[in-house]
Amino acid sequence: MSERLAVEGMVLSAMPIGEYDKRITILTKERGLISAFVRGARRPNSPNLAAANPLAYGVFELYEGRSSYTVSKTDISEYFRDLTMDLELVYYGFYFLEVAEYYAQENMDERQRLKLLYLTLKVMEKKVLPLTLVKFIYEFKTLVINGEYPNVYSCQVCGEKENLHAFSMKHRGLVCDKCREKEGGDTLQSSSIYTMQYIISTPIEKLYSFKLSDEVQEELVQLMRIYRKRYFTHVFKSEEFLEKSMW
Ligand SMILES: [Zn+2]
Repeated sequence: MSERLAVEGMVLSAMPIGEYDKRITILTKERGLISAFVRGARRPNSPNLAAANPLAYGVFELYEGRSSYTVSKTDISEYFRDLTMDLELVYYGFYFLEVAEYYAQENMDERQRLKLLYLTLKVMEKKVLPLTLVKFIYEFKTLVINGEYPNVYSCQVCGEKENLHAFSMKHRGLVCDKCREKEGGDTLQSSSIYTMQYIISTPIEKLYSFKLSDEVQEELVQLMRIYRKRYFTHVFKSEEFLEKSMW
């Protein structure tokens, strides 16, 4: 027996199966991250030819089998065509998709992650913010959604809420001036601290609404690079590619 259902979401990745089929992963509002077969998706006359590709966003009608889903019909509202015209944006976009797929889980509420991904791709298409800043915001908000972001509101050693000017990698957050003498830490510009607080507390809809000076942006990008290297061992293939490319 199979059950029919409709889900809304975005295709994160697609893999060819056999001669004409595909297996796609979709980040959905209703079921979190799911994997589904699209029969005949690679036939030139397939109605699901374009829908079974990364970045396609819309409604997917599925049959739920015992151990997998099969796509029966699709209604795609967004293909991010402007983004796919620009190779640099494509590289960034595929990195964002890979990050979302790595952290998302089946049957979990992944609506925040889906919204973040969708709006990040939209912002990139508009080309109003530097891509390095978009990448930093996306990475930081992903940590917030995962619930494992650094503490930037109080001293990680004594809990003090004032005199916070330094970040300690060891303590995964800010340290006050006094604790810094014993524990060490790197001085941050106050704008960097404020930016991280803003990303944590602001709803995703309003996230991409600021620019930073080059110095602050560079400081935050560096901080994130070291923080991720120290606490997350996973290597994203598309990020390696992004770093090796001309950008
Ligand atoms: Zn302290």
